[in-house]
Amino acid sequence: MGWAKKQMMEQQERGYGSIDKSVCEDCVGDYALKQFITDNGDEGTCDYCNSEGVCIDVESLIGKIMDGVRFEYEEAVECMGIEKGEFIGADTWDTYDLLYEVLGPDMELNDDLLDDIVKTVNDTTWCERDPYQLRESKEKASMWTAFSQMVKTKTRYVFFRMPERDKYQEEAAFLILDHISDEIERLGLIKPLPSGSRFYRGRMHDKKTKIELAKDLSSPPHEKAKSNRMSAEGISIFYGADSAKTAIAEIYDSRYRFATTAIFQNLYDIQVIDLTQIANIPYPSLFDEERRGYRESLAFLRELNDNLTRPIESMESIEYIPAQIVAEYFRFLYTYQGKSIDGIIYRSSKVEDGVCYALFFNQSQCLESDPKSLFPDLHTQMMRMDESSIGTNKVEIDMQLIKMY
Ligand SMILES: [Zn+2]
Repeated sequence: MGWAKKQMMEQQERGYGSIDKSVCEDCVGDYALKQFITDNGDEGTCDYCNSEGVCIDVESLIGKIMDGVRFEYEEAVECMGIEKGEFIGADTWDTYDLLYEVLGPDMELNDDLLDDIVKTVNDTTWCERDPYQLRESKEKASMWTAFSQMVKTKTRYVFFRMPERDKYQEEAAFLILDHISDEIERLGLIKPLPSGSRFYRGRMHDKKTKIELAKDLSSPPHEKAKSNRMSAEGISIFYGADSAKTAIAEIYDSRYRFATTAIFQNLYDIQVIDLTQIANIPYPSLFDEERRGYRESLAFLRELNDNLTRPIESMESIEYIPAQIVAEYFRFLYTYQGKSIDGIIYRSSKVEDGVCYALFFNQSQCLESDPKSLFPDLHTQMMRMDESSIGTNKVEIDMQLIKMY
């Protein structure tokens, strides 16, 4: 076989041709591509910005980029149906559009470098991997929607015995709860809170009412527990916040002018699910071999988190029901490393950067045991109010702003 022919076959197989240039890490923006150059490059001169430093040959960089591309895309000719000479049933992109328009904004390459890469990669038609399947994150999002619809409008109490399959969904919608816990574990969102952590709770009241006792500020008694973001009516849990301001904003009621707050502390180490971390996890690059497997998990959990923590006007709203079920699932059915989950941390929908806690402790778990009770030994106090922390504020709200005196 002649040299030219051999070269052509090799180019066909790997999907790109030859180019004799070098590039430095400053000419690429994506963090994983930068790292690739730092880890694999040698001292040299960059052909794009002329600076001296660690550079890599552009062919190696193209190899790295195409490896990322093939993680989420494949050649349409391998997997798509054709009708009248056109690929059908899913989106396709030619190499130019894929590299410039779809991936370009994230890769952030030097313009001349991107031009060179597009010229060197074989021109072909691309589609998403398994183009006729929903992407994992989309599939889970659609299961969540189906589940939410079911518990809001069809069955709220016996959903776990609904048929495994229906016409549209591969799996029973309620199995989304297991998928959610898998993703939460995978992204490391379960964390310990040491004993002595501080949580603010508040109550709004009129001028006459004095709030001084732990039982006035603790989780409510069952008969007074209202439907709330993470608990149904009649089920008492401990809603706390990271500051007095967040606590008041969360319970704000314009009928009252005063708010009394206090700090509670947990008496034992507990473990919670921290949804606030979802926003902090950087979306992994397609070229990050170690973490790119999380892209779909993160896309789904971001959407779920927005849904679980969005502002809802009325506490009586059925919009809370899916989140209430998620909370009960984590409270009673799920365990992590042999231990149950004691609560969920989420972003306040009222205060920017405010953090809220739904801890699964009812009123009696916030109080000392009653010496007159029949079985004092059966009582385990989990939370204790710091009496010195009680403070009363006059509250006014103009627009979104809270003033405290
Ligand atoms: Zn450069």
